[in-house]
Amino acid sequence: MSEPDPAMQRALAVLEADRALARRVSDAAEVLVGATQVTLLAHVDPDADALGSALALGIALRRRGAEVEVSFASPDRVPESLAALDVLGLVVAPDAVSAAPEVLVSCDAAEPARLGSLARLLDTAGCTVMLDHHGTNPGFGEIQVLDPAAEATVVLAHRVLVEMGARLDADVARCLYAGLVTDTRGFRTAGADAHRLAAELVEAGAQPAVLARALMDEHPFAWFAGLSAALGRAVLEPTGLVHTTIPLEDVRRFRPEEIDSVVDVLRTAQEAEVAAVLKQVAPARFVVSLRSTGRVDVAAAATALGGGGHRAAAGFTREGTEQEVLAGIRAALV
Ligand code: AMP
Ligand code: MN
Ligand code: MN
Repeated sequence: MSEPDPAMQRALAVLEADRALARRVSDAAEVLVGATQVTLLAHVDPDADALGSALALGIALRRRGAEVEVSFASPDRVPESLAALDVLGLVVAPDAVSAAPEVLVSCDAAEPARLGSLARLLDTAGCTVMLDHHGTNPGFGEIQVLDPAAEATVVLAHRVLVEMGARLDADVARCLYAGLVTDTRGFRTAGADAHRLAAELVEAGAQPAVLARALMDEHPFAWFAGLSAALGRAVLEPTGLVHTTIPLEDVRRFRPEEIDSVVDVLRTAQEAEVAAVLKQVAPARFVVSLRSTGRVDVAAAATALGGGGHRAAAGFTREGTEQEVLAGIRAALV
């Protein structure tokens, strides 16, 4: 018999990967439906996708009667723009989390290190479910719901909720929509399925204008001076690298919501291939956000520098001076 042609082989491989993912979604749902206590974790410096996934599942599990806690290792409070998602008060401080959860769910963390100090729970939990969509994720946990094709981790959380037979009420829908609208930058990178999911979430009670305003379109007036300074310092290099640095005093003065929004302005430079924002978190320590405008794979560069992420959006943390970190970025991009 002749070999199937390459196109057929690729199609079969995609089909098999879809089936494997569906099995894992179903395994995750089965474990969660049977659990009496669940701890859900977002990655450090949680965004709407990480916290939205954890809270959407957490709210549904709580309503089923399970004991639920949601946490993240740092910072020590929920970002202001995400606080309204926690309608049941499920978020607990990292030092108050159960030492050995019956079921642990890791949301939107590309690797155990992204859970910070709470990564220790991976060793003590009865069972770990990992939900993530980063192509750089090496895989961890017993049940791995990992799909780099998903626009956001909330897409996977939604699949698990459907499989659990959970009701999508307005509180759950709001959490899922928050992750979807932010990770797709306002649906710019959303495919047809993600748009259909958005429609379902709006029908369930998520309010697009209210959520988008709170999550993406609102800053304290005082930030304008910080943004102006950050943009004034921006440098365009001949290679198409546009970068700026947010000094420690501004990182301390402004909310993470403001600091994290700078890269979305930098990436709009017409000449930019890659935008980089160096956030100074200690005198010689920088958290770096990288964005690609298309051609360059910034996940590869971030991985080479000890971080990870997606092709178009990635990050890493590095010790050194600003110039040393910039030299590292230039070297990783060639
Ligand atoms: P950020 O620039 O922090 O918004 O991150 C961009 C993307 O890269 C997000 O999907 C993050 O989850 C991911 N990311 C950021 N830092 C890291 C890291 N150190 N390791 C793995 N993924 C990261
Ligand atoms: Mn995230
Ligand atoms: Mn995400």
